[in-house]
Amino acid sequence: MNLDRFMNKRVPSNKRYQPTEYEHAANCATHALWIIPSLLGSLLLHFWSEDQWARLSAWVYGAGLSSLFIISTLFHTVAWKKSHLRSVEQCFHMCDRMVIYFFIAASYAPWLNLRELGPWACHMRWLVWVMASFGTTYVFFFHERYKLMELICYTVMGVFPALVIFSMSEQSGLCELLVGGACYCLGMIFFKSDGIVPFAHAIWHLFVAMGAAVHYYAIWKYLYADTPSQVQTAR
Ligand SMILES: [Zn+2]
Repeated sequence: MNLDRFMNKRVPSNKRYQPTEYEHAANCATHALWIIPSLLGSLLLHFWSEDQWARLSAWVYGAGLSSLFIISTLFHTVAWKKSHLRSVEQCFHMCDRMVIYFFIAASYAPWLNLRELGPWACHMRWLVWVMASFGTTYVFFFHERYKLMELICYTVMGVFPALVIFSMSEQSGLCELLVGGACYCLGMIFFKSDGIVPFAHAIWHLFVAMGAAVHYYAIWKYLYADTPSQVQTAR
């Protein structure tokens, strides 16, 4: 089968890959699809909250989750339909990259806020937001300049906060957290495969959605559905 019409030629690493019309449509659809479910999911966590900490975490997590899909969809729509507005597209592209840092911090927030942590590990509650702010500032100044550095920053932001696991007395949900993390890591292969695999970026989007879904499930199951008693005593 000839896949040429679905995919353009690979570009050098200092240039941005130009998706085909099919790829543009797939990039938009694969994240737009999750906007309503993520908003509904956030609302459900709000209703399942048993105290103000759970409610706050539901809002923070919900905001990170929904804005990831909303901003990504907006960026891909602008990149598809308004690519002639170079500075507008560039601005949305920066936001698309910035929101990832806040999404990672927000994904950790319920675990960090609602689980009992050791005396050192509990500082991760605010440290993730400092890291997210640094990441965002980095994107603002060096967007697309050092691509390997960007990937390293995202990986550090994604993995480092997980170290608090070692100080958690209650470790349920660990398996789901790992599976979700593995989805993001596997997806990165496609993130770097524009021009090699047709629809590579849309496939990356699907891995992101899968990782987010597994993490949502774990948050719902272990932090909201069966609120363990130690959550109450932890605060
Ligand atoms: Zn994207």
